Amino acid sequence: KEWCRSIPKIELHAHLNGCIRDSTLLELAKVLGEKGIINFADVEHVIRKCGRSLSECFQLFDLFHILATDHGTISRITKEVVEDFAADEVVYLELRTTPKNNETKGMTKRSYMKAVIDGLRSVDALNVSFSNSSERTENISSSTQNNYANCMERKTIHIRLLLSIDRRETTIAAMETVCLALELREFGVVGIDLSGNPIVGEWKTFLPALKYAKEQGLSVTLHCGEVSNKKEIQEMLDFVPERIGHACFLDKDDWEKARVLQIPVEICLTSNLRTERLSTIDLHHFANLHKGNHPLVLCTDDTGLFSTTLSNEYYLAAATFGLDQKDVLRLATNAIEFVFGGSEVKKALRGIFGDSARKLAE
Ligand code: 5GP
Repeated sequence: KEWCRSIPKIELHAHLNGCIRDSTLLELAKVLGEKGIINFADVEHVIRKCGRSLSECFQLFDLFHILATDHGTISRITKEVVEDFAADEVVYLELRTTPKNNETKGMTKRSYMKAVIDGLRSVDALNVSFSNSSERTENISSSTQNNYANCMERKTIHIRLLLSIDRRETTIAAMETVCLALELREFGVVGIDLSGNPIVGEWKTFLPALKYAKEQGLSVTLHCGEVSNKKEIQEMLDFVPERIGHACFLDKDDWEKARVLQIPVEICLTSNLRTERLSTIDLHHFANLHKGNHPLVLCTDDTGLFSTTLSNEYYLAAATFGLDQKDVLRLATNAIEFVFGGSEVKKALRGIFGDSARKLAE
């Protein structure tokens, strides 16, 4: 377990509001409880509950969105999530979040994203590299004036952002998110995700915005096959997204299509188990994909919601499917090819993983 923690890792499927620390959620709930906005006792019970069904998870997301609605809180959560991933030796994090309008808080999708970016900038214990255009370390400049040596000693985490379209949204709202993503490219936004309750909404609602994103050079990943929906799964694969998430309900023909197209799959073991999409972990499609050398990457989905870490996901895969250290490091290294960041960041990652492979061989 400690070894899985110690190796560098790449996280490509993490939802910001699903990764909030429990301690932060409880603190926020307490404040709202004192103000009489919520009943703290009810909320405490929900936050502390282990093992939730998929529908309970979506109820909890609605609660998260009540708790974390002001700009300051969004920045704070972002900072904490980045710190937590870095502490788990994640060297590249693609963090996804749904830009939200909230009139009562004076929040627009744009100001929500500004709060996220402010959160990235406020991380001071690490070097956070999220600038897309020039691969420079964003927060080095302010610290260099103070303590250059200190800055060189600190860990670096590379971050890119994906903007999520929620399946509750309209075509126009989805298009707004894509336009915002295009506007924010210089702040590390590299792509679009389609997520939200899989039994809500229709593929054709989101297709125009997703097509536009693709045309404009944004990368697209889709939550695909979280529930059984043959028609939608086929339509999603025909769209040829650059990655798909979960893929729990693909049948033989769908997998053949995914194989021919070589679409990488974001695998979230604990999430799939907790939301009861399979009865036991050893039945997970990871086994077949790994055996067949299908491109895949282990991810957490929601570290807070599912009380997991990326190193825990690697450990779980190793323990369940009998992977040795070499297999695990190969799996972690393969993820470099599936990141949406550009060639510069891939080069930096190859250097980091190359060092780890050399250490393992010694
Ligand atoms: P946010 O986008 O607010 O930062 O993160 C929480 C949101 O991510 C949820 O409201 C939901 O739309 C999406 N999300 C998180 N986990 C899952 C998941 O397992 N499946 C799907 N489809 N969406 C998810």
